[in-house]
Amino acid sequence: MRTHYCGDLREAQLGATVSLCGWVARRREHGASLAFVDLRDRSGVVQCVVDGSVDVRNEYVLRVTGTVTRRPDGNENPEIPTGAVEITDCAVEILSASEPPPIPLSDRIDVDENQRLRFRYLDLRRERLQRNLRTRAKVNSVIRHSMESQGFLEIETPMLIASTPEGARDFVVPSRLKPGSFYALPQSPQLFKQLSMVGGMDRYYQIARCLRDEDLRADRQFEFTQLDAEASFVSGDDVRQFITEAVLAAAESVTGSRPAFLGDLTWNEAQERFGSDKPDVRFGMELVELTPLFATTEFNAFRAPCVKAIREPGGAARTRKQLDELTENAKRWGAKGLVWMRVEEGGVLNSPVSKFLSAEELSSIVSTLEAEPGDVLYLVADERRVVRHVLGLLRLALGRPPVNEGGLNFLWVVDFPLFEGIDPETGGPIPAHHPFTMPHPEDIGSLGGLGDVVPSADVLLASRSQAYDLVLNGWELGSGSVRIHRGDVQQRIFELLGIGEAEQQRKFGFLLDAFRYGAPPHAGFAFGIDRLVALLCGEENIREVIAFPKTQSGLDPLTNAPTEIDQRQLNELGLRLLPKA
Ligand code: ASP
Repeated sequence: MRTHYCGDLREAQLGATVSLCGWVARRREHGASLAFVDLRDRSGVVQCVVDGSVDVRNEYVLRVTGTVTRRPDGNENPEIPTGAVEITDCAVEILSASEPPPIPLSDRIDVDENQRLRFRYLDLRRERLQRNLRTRAKVNSVIRHSMESQGFLEIETPMLIASTPEGARDFVVPSRLKPGSFYALPQSPQLFKQLSMVGGMDRYYQIARCLRDEDLRADRQFEFTQLDAEASFVSGDDVRQFITEAVLAAAESVTGSRPAFLGDLTWNEAQERFGSDKPDVRFGMELVELTPLFATTEFNAFRAPCVKAIREPGGAARTRKQLDELTENAKRWGAKGLVWMRVEEGGVLNSPVSKFLSAEELSSIVSTLEAEPGDVLYLVADERRVVRHVLGLLRLALGRPPVNEGGLNFLWVVDFPLFEGIDPETGGPIPAHHPFTMPHPEDIGSLGGLGDVVPSADVLLASRSQAYDLVLNGWELGSGSVRIHRGDVQQRIFELLGIGEAEQQRKFGFLLDAFRYGAPPHAGFAFGIDRLVALLCGEENIREVIAFPKTQSGLDPLTNAPTEIDQRQLNELGLRLLPKA
């Protein structure tokens, strides 16, 4: 139907007769007998000069045949790539009429998100989404290419499976042929990729859809897409190299230059310096250790297991009300309080607690933090875990740049703890990653062997794993680890997690079986493509890079999903609904 795309026309085509297909982006009358129609397709827009009597309106679908002509002097539009030319002598064929669109399609106008999703097929015509989805397609393609050139084989894994624990709730699908039984949708292909390593596939990858029933946020949807990979006979370092290569190639394809990789931080260092396991290193304000300064302090509140501080340059301009609000936030995040200190001329600290501190303590605070007049210092004293958490959040609240500033700061966080806490209900540890993660070689001994007594909570919580995360500008892009490939080690971890033998067999018997038949050492990784693309597009919300996302409450205003199903379907599945509460 067409010879060219609208956005591709340039002076090189002057004089050519072209046929174009697209939507009317805008119509302006030009004198009594002519009209300018901006015709839009996926590639951009071009101006067509049409007979004023042709009845075409916004979003009509046209086929226009005409001549590429130079625009008259003074009428060029440098804002658009086709701005030097226009199409004249147009024959216009209306392929489809359009009612006035219910949402404006200009990128300059903010539209209510619910309306955008209700009319997503119109929203998709906007330049922002056209651009974002093109970027997404590019990123997918570059990642595929990169994985393939590193020897990875694309293998598809099933969507209807038994549960794979990744720490979220499963979406379940009732079985018609086995009433009363349910499939889970994959929270990840984790166990299948490990089994494909046992199956000798050596290097697996997949651009995989994963489903997790957890609360939606700016960086989280029920279903998301990840680059999922696994390799045999490799170290964690090797896996990080593979993934580094893929993400840097993806970033380069979008930005035109290859960002520098910032290297590795241990989990502990990330926590100590940034109060986070996904540090945003685009700005300073690092956490500074003050504990030794107060070893013998008279001020009770600072005689705590840990005292740390951050320095906000120029923060002294904050009002008392703002400082009080920050204190309230710190309390909500779990601190007993927040001590603020305004730094005045001569290094004098103006703070409600100054009078409780010795002159020496005050001056050590100033020198340790390298404080300058005009700064505000924020101190928290508590358990180390609480101090890091609260100051980490405060640092972000005070200093985090907008999403599209500060470049791309990729880094790896390594040596994650094996367990992230103790479950108050079961008394057992909670895995920090998933239960298939190999403990750190230096810590594996202290976990004991199958059937040994369970080590103390302190020992468990101090154990590191061989898990690592990829972080970009404070977003966790993904996680991976060296896996357990020995049945006895896997069973010991299940045992520590309080998963008894019967449950192990029921849920993971197939994996333990597989480990009996020659499992190679293996390691892998997965990172969220939605998140990577969002950051590459400078978007705060992954919805902007997903063609058909759900709202914050998990609904699809376009198709109305989730919907009720009819009685016949329920009967077939052997399901009866409880009355609505
Ligand atoms: N299965 C993990 C996840 O989806 C990633 C991995 O360990 O490879 O987060």
